[in-house]
Amino acid sequence: MNSKKSIEKVLLNVIEDNLNKVQQQFDDYQKKSFPKRSPEFFCLELNGEAGELANFEKKQWKGRHIPHENFSDEAADVLIALMNYCNARNIDLGKAVNNKIQKIEKKRKKLQSEGKEY
Ligand SMILES: [Mg+2]
Repeated sequence: MNSKKSIEKVLLNVIEDNLNKVQQQFDDYQKKSFPKRSPEFFCLELNGEAGELANFEKKQWKGRHIPHENFSDEAADVLIALMNYCNARNIDLGKAVNNKIQKIEKKRKKLQSEGKEY
């Protein structure tokens, strides 16, 4: 019997066991502490936060020093906005990520068998 799991199977298990709990806690926190907002609101917020993150990367790329805290702060904003978006849009993010990783792995393995990179 082979008990060694592939790294993607371990990842899928961790996501399945934990991501929906994290998403549920964000939903509880959001509902308790903030006014109800639409999926469109959170989608715009998500893209705004991703834009703020990208802007810091652009500034650093062009030679300015950007404190690491700025990147981590914006990355956190992106995650929070994504969680709120998924909750408002009734997306089970754990299930969606699992499905996507399985599709990526299928494609990656096919390309690998053809000697190509993903
Ligand atoms: Mg921000």
